[in-house]
Amino acid sequence: MSIGAHTLSHPVLSLCSEEEARREIRDSKIEIESALGRPVWAFAYPFGNSSTMGDREIGLAREAAFTCAFLNVEHWSGGESNPFTLPRIHVTLRTTLPEFAAHLSGLHTRLQRAMGG
Ligand SMILES: [Zn+2]
Repeated sequence: MSIGAHTLSHPVLSLCSEEEARREIRDSKIEIESALGRPVWAFAYPFGNSSTMGDREIGLAREAAFTCAFLNVEHWSGGESNPFTLPRIHVTLRTTLPEFAAHLSGLHTRLQRAMGG
């Protein structure tokens, strides 16, 4: 198990001033590290999609010295995937194993595109 950071107050980062966004991201790392006495290397952007974060937040996560950061979507349109835009698959109680496999294999995305979704 790993414990990562997720901001101080779960704001929509894109609506924050740069200084607020920096504090939310940086200080969440510092506070957890001081509570755990261990480095916190991972960050997850609240909401984690292109309407709630972008290049500025990616830069702030780098600046805060995280090793990587997670999105809350499977695909990121803002250029190539990198350690600060790691995609995630949303799994709920109702997600079946075949559905999960379809997401992992890329089949789910290809079907969505084929159906214009
Ligand atoms: Zn959250």
